[in-house]
Amino acid sequence: MLKYCPTCNRSSEDVHFIGEFCELCIKEKLAKSLPSGVTLEVCKSCGRIKTREGYFNSNKEAIADAVSSSVGGKWKIAIKEFDWKHATVTFKQEYGDEWVKIDKEIEVKVKKPMCIDCYRQTSGYYEAILQIRGPDSKVESTMAKLMKFISVRNTFTSRVDELENGYDIYLSDKKVANAFFEYYELKPGRSYSLYGLKNGKELYRNIYILRLE
Ligand SMILES: [Zn+2]
Ligand SMILES: [Zn+2]
Repeated sequence: MLKYCPTCNRSSEDVHFIGEFCELCIKEKLAKSLPSGVTLEVCKSCGRIKTREGYFNSNKEAIADAVSSSVGGKWKIAIKEFDWKHATVTFKQEYGDEWVKIDKEIEVKVKKPMCIDCYRQTSGYYEAILQIRGPDSKVESTMAKLMKFISVRNTFTSRVDELENGYDIYLSDKKVANAFFEYYELKPGRSYSLYGLKNGKELYRNIYILRLE
């Protein structure tokens, strides 16, 4: 049956219809809710981009997520083109039983705060000290494993002291230290040192000592 769009009077012979309205009018209506621009947060120190899951290296997925979190709602997003000033974005939304797809060029603005990891790194932040002791070869191989382990997990060492019989490593994240012990089935000794008070609560740093044989 031939339909006529109540808004523009186009016929279903000429354009595709979704329900009672022609696709063009539906797109026009939905396009009104699309943003004309987006602001991305990019760390001024490491260049990673803020997404809903934290900071990630800038790539198409991270940018899509950052755009998507500022648009919100029902839109699914893919980035077609991107140059830090403009982005051509494909917005997709389920409408009726169909997917409506709209390509739109939006303006890109960039804010440059410092991410929490860079902030901590520059301020010498650490949560745990790992002391590795033992024969040279064991210490060095454990050290190499540790450095690799923490670098792929976006954490850092704020200080490494080389000693005669090992290392003291100041780690930004005690959870990663514990993950390392678990992964390599290591059983370090554990102690704590009080380093401050916050709202009357005592703050402790973890100290791990790993004795290798
Ligand atoms: Zn229409
Ligand atoms: Zn950073």
